[in-house]
Amino acid sequence: MKVIVLGAGIIGISTAWHLLELGHDVTVVDRQPAAALETSFANAGQISVSYCEPWANKDAPLKALKWMFSKEAPLLFRPQWPTFGPSAKFGGGWQQWRWGMQFLGQCNDAAFERNVQQIVALGAYSHLALKDIVDATNIDYNRLQQGIAHYFTDQHALDAAGEAALLMQKYGVSRQVMGRDAILTIEPALKSFAAHIVGGTYTASDESGDARVFTQKLARLCEAKGAEFLYGHEVLALNKSNNTIKSIAVKAVNAGSRCQNRGINSYETDEFEAKTLMADAFVVACGSFTAPLLRTVGVDVPIYPGKGYSATFKILKPELAPNVSVIDDQAKCAITRLGDQLRVAGTIEIGAFDNTISSNLSQIRCRMLTKRVEAVLPGVCDTRSMEEGGSPNYWSGLRPATPTNIPIIGKTSVDKLWVNAGHGTLGWTHGAGSGKAIAQLIDGQMPVIAQSKAGYPFKFYGF
Ligand SMILES: Cc1cc2nc3c(=O)[nH]c(=O)nc-3n(C[C@H](O)[C@H](O)[C@H](O)COP(=O)(O)OP(=O)(O)OC[C@H]3O[C@@H](n4cnc5c(N)ncnc54)[C@H](O)[C@@H]3O)c2cc1C
Repeated sequence: MKVIVLGAGIIGISTAWHLLELGHDVTVVDRQPAAALETSFANAGQISVSYCEPWANKDAPLKALKWMFSKEAPLLFRPQWPTFGPSAKFGGGWQQWRWGMQFLGQCNDAAFERNVQQIVALGAYSHLALKDIVDATNIDYNRLQQGIAHYFTDQHALDAAGEAALLMQKYGVSRQVMGRDAILTIEPALKSFAAHIVGGTYTASDESGDARVFTQKLARLCEAKGAEFLYGHEVLALNKSNNTIKSIAVKAVNAGSRCQNRGINSYETDEFEAKTLMADAFVVACGSFTAPLLRTVGVDVPIYPGKGYSATFKILKPELAPNVSVIDDQAKCAITRLGDQLRVAGTIEIGAFDNTISSNLSQIRCRMLTKRVEAVLPGVCDTRSMEEGGSPNYWSGLRPATPTNIPIIGKTSVDKLWVNAGHGTLGWTHGAGSGKAIAQLIDGQMPVIAQSKAGYPFKFYGF
């Protein structure tokens, strides 16, 4: 079968890889000049199978309301005023409000438990799929199989974490609650912050690694297996007739302008003519941009961007840097070692389709990450600004968020049109499995996570 994958993030590339494994003929289209240059570029790097609770829980509405007035808040709702006309391109504010209402609908215990079961099922399946890819390809992506430790500076929050651990254990997730000394034994790099730590939780089977490096290397392996890549091409339209996608319209763009601050050389092309591409199946894996694209053909999926930030610093004292990826509960950020660099990432803003970092608010949030890494791991990495002679890399990405935190993987109501998007905070964790599952569905097979009778079968979209 000839399949076109729209989007070359972790989700699109994993989809392409698994389709090739099943013998299909694959083309990948992306507006960027290479794979993984949008949300899959500089995330926290955690393969977080066991820390996967959805944001929507019974306490979330009150917290979000309280945090609306703090620019450093981990979760920030920034209301977009509903508009019409050209500025309404990505839903003009209406979609944000609708998404917000759907999110509120998930903020109760019953929905939380239901969503956790789905996410845990996909996580376990995806972890195996990731290990299979690594075994088959030997891709090196600064992988560390040391687990994830979550430390707390507040006793109430630690007590609540104990209850959360019990719930997760009910669904087969092995998350241990431990005191400060045990956390420091697991990650001695936290010693200089020990006076503030009251305890934590630890999941030994989780891991970490660089999503961008993995995705770009897997993309090259897809190319070697015969996939065609059309980088620097924007998907303009899904051409529908008789409720079937007959083709897509794409156009070359000057992709360089989209990659400022990312160390990517821009390239010019004068080939700006629209082209039509035909296939037997089309998989939309365009991250946050999936929803507006699908709406053009009457498919409505609840995906909205949740902006997050990361800062990447050169490690100055490797012997004092953590090997276990850690989560700082107070700042709600993750700190991960990626080779000779340390990445700190976190915060979420439900605002506009905007991934720039020049605004005053973005600067405040980036500074907050820097301050936190210096407080927890003083002097371990070079946090100096450019002006001070440092070389920090600040970045922001748009998490394709669903109200449930469950990604949308499956077939749409339009023939030949498939979707693999909405992975929110866990796209790196769920990437390998989501790609494998959609490839199997397109191939006419039912993935094992949907068949499980004893466990919690995953519900695929449209099935
Ligand atoms: C700060 C931060 C920290 C995170 N930390 C983690 C973590 O530790 N662990 C984890 O599991 N997940 C994490 N995530 C989430 C994870 O990064 C995302 O879920 C994942 O990258 C989404 O991948 P994707 O392929 O769906 O989207 P993307 O990587 O954004 O890929 C979509 C692709 O579609 C292309 N595209 C879009 N529209 C068009 C169009 N019209 N035409 C052509 N191309 C188009 C884009 O160019 C892009 O390349 C984090 C995210 C953020 C922001």
